[in-house]
Amino acid sequence: MSKALPDIIENILMLNGAVTERQEDGGMAIILPQRVARMLNIPEYTTLCFSYNHGHDSAIYASYDSGFFLSVKKLLDLTGRVAFAGFEAKLPGVEKVSAMVAQKIGFDNATLRIDTTEMTEIVYILFFVKYTALSDEKHEGWLPIMVNNINSSVIALHDTEILEGLTEYQGPATISIDTMKRLYDVANRAAPKLVEAEMAGFSKSLERRLNRDIRRVYEYYETLKTQTKDMIAKKTGNNTVDASTNTPIAGEVSEEYVSKLRGKLTAIASEQEWKIRDLVAKYSLRITGETVGAIAIHTQAIQCRITIKRRLASRQFSVTYNPLYRQLDPLSCESCFRETASLVCDDHLHIVCMHCLKPCQQCGKTYCRKCQTSCPKCKKT
Ligand SMILES: [Zn+2]
Ligand SMILES: [Zn+2]
Ligand SMILES: [Zn+2]
Repeated sequence: MSKALPDIIENILMLNGAVTERQEDGGMAIILPQRVARMLNIPEYTTLCFSYNHGHDSAIYASYDSGFFLSVKKLLDLTGRVAFAGFEAKLPGVEKVSAMVAQKIGFDNATLRIDTTEMTEIVYILFFVKYTALSDEKHEGWLPIMVNNINSSVIALHDTEILEGLTEYQGPATISIDTMKRLYDVANRAAPKLVEAEMAGFSKSLERRLNRDIRRVYEYYETLKTQTKDMIAKKTGNNTVDASTNTPIAGEVSEEYVSKLRGKLTAIASEQEWKIRDLVAKYSLRITGETVGAIAIHTQAIQCRITIKRRLASRQFSVTYNPLYRQLDPLSCESCFRETASLVCDDHLHIVCMHCLKPCQQCGKTYCRKCQTSCPKCKKT
């Protein structure tokens, strides 16, 4: 599950020196440093609430649509302030990590060789993406996305306990604005797919309800069509026979009435079509997201430098052991930043996923989406 809003706000406030206490009724008592209180324009000691019908009159409403929420963004403004945190890494030995790399990292169309494995300083940026998924229902949520500055590996953070180990960071900022912007771009490009994956259960339920409603509408109009066709047949005498004599019924042909029925049939068919189109629109899922802040987590990792080889080409790359997750960071696709990729391209040995190294839909040529933004043969994007 993505992290709840009160948890995120609590993390951000704590990283800015606040003391917080959760209350049984869902509120949160906070004591803020003067500087933070002034920035948020609220008292130093106050209570936050996350629903309208919270009992306290004096509590500050802090949900997504609140003024408070907008001002919290100031604490995490990427151009001005990024919250900094430390994390005390407990790392396994380098041999153990080398063995993990040998066992878990591999490519379907290339080989790899481990060159060196050693401890290194690393920065993981935790970007907070606020998303809205809109359909017949509205869902809002947060998705923390973690990207590191060594290999841009992307992870959607589901285990929120990780954040409890964060400590105040007093050291120098070790990440440049350019790197920050690059990682911000990675997080933004990865976010839609990660949010989509987060909403997979909801998408399935939408699909089920859409299919159910389409079936109902379809059957209803098909019955109407059959009834109307029967009436036309009866009036024109076609296709109906008198059972006792087995001869066609002549019918009382009234041209005007029959053409009226035919008109009705056309109207039913077009009504059926737009009712189904309406349902598709009603149940389609529109996802929007916004990265509202970030925490730069300074820690140590184990970095394993590898050489990737395919045919005559080779390329150096780094695999990292993530101390927060206590496992290897996944190899993310260098084109779309999906979490897992296991292919490399011919020209630059980019690490890509199957979607980013697949044949062109128009001409069938296989090409790398990181190397080329459109098909090199037919130019289709
Ligand atoms: Zn990809
Ligand atoms: Zn490529
Ligand atoms: Zn093509």
